[in-house]
Amino acid sequence: MTCEMASGRILSRGLTRMVAAPWNYVAGKRCDPCDASHNMKVVEPASGQLLCEVPVSGQKEVAHAVAAAKEVFPCWSKLSCRERGRKLLEASRIIRENLEDISKLEVRDTGKPIWEARVDIESCADALEYYGGVAGAIVGQHVPLSGGSFAMVQRQPLGVIGGIGAWNFPLQTCVWKVAPALACGNTFVYKPSQFTPVTAVTLGEVFKEAGVPDGVYNVIQGEGETGAFLCSHPDVAKLSFTGSVPTGVKVMATGAQGIKAVTLELGGKSPLIIFEDADMKNAIKATLMANFLSQGQVCSNGTRVFVQKSIFKEFVKQLVDATNKLKIGNPFAEDTTVGATIHEDHAKKVLGYISTAKEEGATLLCGGERIMLEGELSGGYYLSPAVLVDCKDDMTVVKEEVFGSIASILEFDTEEEAIQRANKTDFGLAGAVFTKDIQRGHRVANSIEAGTVWINTYNLYPTELPFGGYKHSGVGRENGMAVIDFFTQTRTVYVEMGDVDCGPLYQE
Ligand code: NDP
Repeated sequence: MTCEMASGRILSRGLTRMVAAPWNYVAGKRCDPCDASHNMKVVEPASGQLLCEVPVSGQKEVAHAVAAAKEVFPCWSKLSCRERGRKLLEASRIIRENLEDISKLEVRDTGKPIWEARVDIESCADALEYYGGVAGAIVGQHVPLSGGSFAMVQRQPLGVIGGIGAWNFPLQTCVWKVAPALACGNTFVYKPSQFTPVTAVTLGEVFKEAGVPDGVYNVIQGEGETGAFLCSHPDVAKLSFTGSVPTGVKVMATGAQGIKAVTLELGGKSPLIIFEDADMKNAIKATLMANFLSQGQVCSNGTRVFVQKSIFKEFVKQLVDATNKLKIGNPFAEDTTVGATIHEDHAKKVLGYISTAKEEGATLLCGGERIMLEGELSGGYYLSPAVLVDCKDDMTVVKEEVFGSIASILEFDTEEEAIQRANKTDFGLAGAVFTKDIQRGHRVANSIEAGTVWINTYNLYPTELPFGGYKHSGVGRENGMAVIDFFTQTRTVYVEMGDVDCGPLYQE
């Protein structure tokens, strides 16, 4: 395969065509898998109706996609970093130009409100722009040594990357992996979640229009088994996974068999600590952002809300008032703030956590119910955001990742107590502290065992900042310049400028 720059006006086909089969994207075109065992039925969360049927790729199709990525790797990796960067900048521009259409696709796939989808897709353009911009700065080092000798530490791509994503931020998860990986000179095979297969394919068409060579980015659709085939393929050099802890364990174990590098972005149960001197309105806004965005299906959510005793009652009153004002409805409506849960089983799981919480002694102050919408939306699973009080640290809802709109409000007395309880979890993805005391803010932030800590805000992730977990929340980092280390390897070339000094080993 040559490294010809493809070009087409794929996106001008419009939204209807963009949501049309086939669903795999290999070597620069949509295709059906050569070995589909069955079709996955993808349901539109907003309506509960069938959105599309997607054939499940088997081992042969995974091999086909990996082969395409492997074939084009030599020419893609040999382009200058700036040439690769230019393609990513163009992809960013195309995403911005098509932001509305792509956001609508994301709503159809996820059920999240349109305003949130626009933010997600904008963040994809941001990531492509950032890595397109920094691509030229992905360089090695020159290290002077004694006697005029020196070494070059070259920064090399890894090869074919296997990416696997979750369903809550489908395109964002994909782009956060693909943009830096491609900037570093790798090629990519991505398997989206079975629940949200659509926009990863659109990204292939964006890349095509941006002039990225065919085969540099490929998509294979399927379920867990397809993901497992990708993880175990011998020509995949690295696994970049976003999903739950149990699946992350499997991905890491499979990677270990092939001594593959692994990045894991996993779940969380993050603390949000609100001190009595916090700005109350901002603390309430942040609690909404930390719990109820994307129907609560956000890995970094601050679902353990620790509130200092002296403001507890007032905080809870204002939070319930604000929660009751959220508008549950058609995700395409501009004023909707709460859309549909991803699917029926997940909705039941979330409601199950509410029942268990009540059985274990928590009090439900609002929400926690299925809301039936009318007409076309009657088949969607719309849940009202829930606020729980009388919570204890050892309750199931407080310990486990729910991945739904349930905020557990916990009372605390002292700073030491808040920190100790905040860290009493196996997770370590994120956390936050709200206070006007600058010293306390930093002291507490520095004590939280998590990859990201916000002071006086929540759930913001500009591309410039590394993101990833401590403890069971993950391995490695995405975003910022930190991710470059996870998509490259170094080759040290030592250059001897004098004679070989081997001590007494050599006698004239
Ligand atoms: P899962 O772990 O169930 O699935 C994640 C992906 O892995 C899916 O594409 C899934 O395919 C695939 N998969 C399943 N089994 C295997 C296997 N054996 N080998 C390889 N791949 C496999 O997670 P969810 O999709 O339910 O996502 C929710 C989870 O993701 C939450 O825990 C959340 O916290 C976490 N998450 C973490 C983020 C972070 O950045 N830290 C961001 C977003 C979510 P399929 O869907 O077809 O089953």
